[in-house]
Amino acid sequence: MPRTLDPDLRRALAARIRYYNEMGIYDFYRRPVSARTEDVGAPIVVDEQEIALSINTESGEEMSPRKSTAVAVPVAIEGDENIFEAIALKPEQSVSDPVKALKIIREDLGDCTRCVLHKQGRKQIVFGVGNPTAELMFVGEGPGADEDEKGEPFVGRAGQLLNNMIKAMGIEREQVYIANIVKCRPPGNRQPERDECATCSPFLMRQIAVVKPKVIVALGATAAKTLLAMNASMMQLRGRFYDFKPAGVRSNDPDWDGCKLAVTYHPAFLLRDPRQKGEAWKDLRMVMKELGMKAPKQNA
Ligand code: SF4
Repeated sequence: MPRTLDPDLRRALAARIRYYNEMGIYDFYRRPVSARTEDVGAPIVVDEQEIALSINTESGEEMSPRKSTAVAVPVAIEGDENIFEAIALKPEQSVSDPVKALKIIREDLGDCTRCVLHKQGRKQIVFGVGNPTAELMFVGEGPGADEDEKGEPFVGRAGQLLNNMIKAMGIEREQVYIANIVKCRPPGNRQPERDECATCSPFLMRQIAVVKPKVIVALGATAAKTLLAMNASMMQLRGRFYDFKPAGVRSNDPDWDGCKLAVTYHPAFLLRDPRQKGEAWKDLRMVMKELGMKAPKQNA
């Protein structure tokens, strides 16, 4: 006999899942527990476990397992199969215009106080900038002093270098979309903490799902590790593509099921160690090949 969830329990589950999402937890796994009626209302169990995540690379190599948090939920409730998918729908997903959809995400972010960075000297939230339908997206770590001042990512010295890198690819900054893992300036330009990245990045995931790029370039280790949810050195992370899907959200475009992700050095690092610029250029050439772009003559 098919059973449906009690409306109160359904609301409680929805609230619990929103709570986990706010904490940066998006992966929910059904654990086969008893389907008896009295078990359905049992407390939800949260436990840490290793979820082996196969990341398809060009070489077909399997990457390290991803640490994830699994949430066990009641199962075998006919008629409620789509409850979690329905809950995961974001307000912007009913909007086809990407400009409007990004505006909805920005409004949802509001005057955000979700992590401690809101009270550590930020002047403003730095949301993201660029072409809302860009094929190429750059994701950095977080705003610095210049970005905090102007409210736009990558506008300081590192931004100038990023602009030059984009130009070297034969395109303009306005053609790409640029954002950061955290949207508020960490004090003293320190690296954002893991919990800050986990709290803020769901908004970035939603931006990615709206822009639907073909390729994302993660600038630096913090961006790469957060997006890929894996811990590895830059040497291990660079030089290959990863299949990437924004965690916790689905695009409203059935034809977009994620994109490629490449990792390169953060421009701020390249300013400190210009010898690595050649390596970064190799990464960008790999991206250009994927996108079918040709370098301008002077860089060819
Ligand atoms: Fe909110 Fe992100 Fe700023 Fe933290 S860094 S306060 S989550 S906008």
